[in-house]
Amino acid sequence: MSKPDLNCSFCGRPKPETQLLIAGLDAHICDRCIVQAHGIVQEESTVESSEDVQIELKPPKEIKSFLDTYIIGQESSKRVLSVAVYNHYKRLLQSASKKDDDAVEIQKSNVLLVGPTGTGKTLLAQTISRMLKVPLAIVDATVLTEAGYVGEDVESILSRLLQAADYDVDRAQKGIVFIDEIDKIARKGDNPSITRDVSGEGVQQALLKLLEGTVVNVPPKGGRKHPDQKFIEVDTSNILFIAGGAFDGIDSHISKRLNLQAIGYKTAQEQRNVDQENMLQYITPRDIRSFGLIPEIIGRLPVLTYMNPLDKETLREILTSPKNALVKQYVHLFEMDEIELQFTSGALNFIVDKALQYKLGARGLRSLCEAILNDAMFELPQSEIKNLKVTKQYAESKLSKIELPKLKIVS
Ligand code: ADP
Repeated sequence: MSKPDLNCSFCGRPKPETQLLIAGLDAHICDRCIVQAHGIVQEESTVESSEDVQIELKPPKEIKSFLDTYIIGQESSKRVLSVAVYNHYKRLLQSASKKDDDAVEIQKSNVLLVGPTGTGKTLLAQTISRMLKVPLAIVDATVLTEAGYVGEDVESILSRLLQAADYDVDRAQKGIVFIDEIDKIARKGDNPSITRDVSGEGVQQALLKLLEGTVVNVPPKGGRKHPDQKFIEVDTSNILFIAGGAFDGIDSHISKRLNLQAIGYKTAQEQRNVDQENMLQYITPRDIRSFGLIPEIIGRLPVLTYMNPLDKETLREILTSPKNALVKQYVHLFEMDEIELQFTSGALNFIVDKALQYKLGARGLRSLCEAILNDAMFELPQSEIKNLKVTKQYAESKLSKIELPKLKIVS
C-alpha cells in the first residue's frame, strides 16, 4: 500500500520529491537531510577528535631506548626511526593544536627501510606501534595491483588498518602501515620511459596519494569497491607509512655509483675504506631510483635507512636478551609446567652456528629451538622430570633427526 502523503519530518519535503525517505519510530528523514546531518556529525567529530588527540611527546632518546628493549643491533635505523617518530608526533600535535594557515607545515616523515629479510624491519614497525599504542597494518606490496586488475586495490591497505583499529576511524587515522616488499613493485626493465609495466609502476602511482595524505573511501571489509558497499572515509594525512624491502641486488647499484665517483674525486685510500661487506650503509635515494622506484614514491618516503645483516654475536643476543627473547619464552613455557629449563652457552652457540650455516637468519632461530625442544615439550609435562639442561650434545642429537634445510621457517 503506497502512502503518497508522507513527508520528511526535518525539511517537510513530500515523499515524491525525495530519492529516499527513511522511516523512524514517529518520523521520517529524506536523503538530503541525511547528507546534511552526516555533515554536521562529521564537523562535530573533527572538532572533538582534534581535542581528543592526547599525544605524549617522547624525545628520540626515550623512543630509542624502548626500541632497544626489543630490537638488537640496528643502531643506525633505530636512531633514524626514533627521530622520524618524534617528528611525526610533533606533526600530529601541531595539527591537533592549531589550524593556523601561517604556521609552517611539517611534512610527513614516512620511512623506507632497506635490508635483507629477517633483519627486523617488521619488528621495528611492530615495536613502534606497541610503543605509541596505535593500530598497525602489515601489508605485502606484492598483492597490490592497480585498480581494475586482479589483486587488491591499494585501498585494501586501509581496510586492514581499520580492522586493526576495531573500526575506530580516529585511531586508524593515527595508525601505522607497514608495507613489506616494496622493492617488488619496482619498475622492471632498464628503460623507464619505454618499458612501462603495469603491475609495478601502476601500483607505485596508486600508492602516491595514500602516502602523501588524502581522504579515501574505504570498503570496510576490504576487497574490491562494490556499488552496494558502504564506504568509510579515512584521511591518511596522519598515518605513518613505513615501507620495507630487501632490494636484492641493490649492492651493485651502490658500488657502481661509489666507484664512478671514485674515478672523479675519490682517492684510492678512500675507495679502500668502503666496507664491501655491507654496502647498504651507503645507500642513497639515487640507488633506490636506479633500482626502479619512481622519484615521486621516493620523495614521499623521505626517511631512508638500512638494516645490517645479522652476524653471529647479534644472533646470539637475539636469542637471549630482548624483552621477549626466544630463550626467555621457552623458559617461561616450561616454567608453566614447573620445569626448570636451561641452555648452556655451548648449546646457544650451536643454535646460532646452525642458523648461520643454513642461512636461516633470525627467523630460523625459532625453528631450530622448536626442533630441539619438541620432544621435551611433548614428554616432560606428564613426567617426573623437573629440569632440563639443553647442552650442545642434546641440541645436536635432536637436530640430527631432521634435515635442516627442510626446517619450516616460522616467524
Ligand atoms: P624482516 O621484516 O626484516 O623480514 P622480521 O622483523 O620479520 O624481519 O624478523 C623476523 C624475526 O626475527 C622477528 O620476529 C624477530 O624475532 C627476529 N629478529 C630479526 N631481527 C631482529 C633484531 N634485530 N632484534 C631482535 N629480533 C630480531
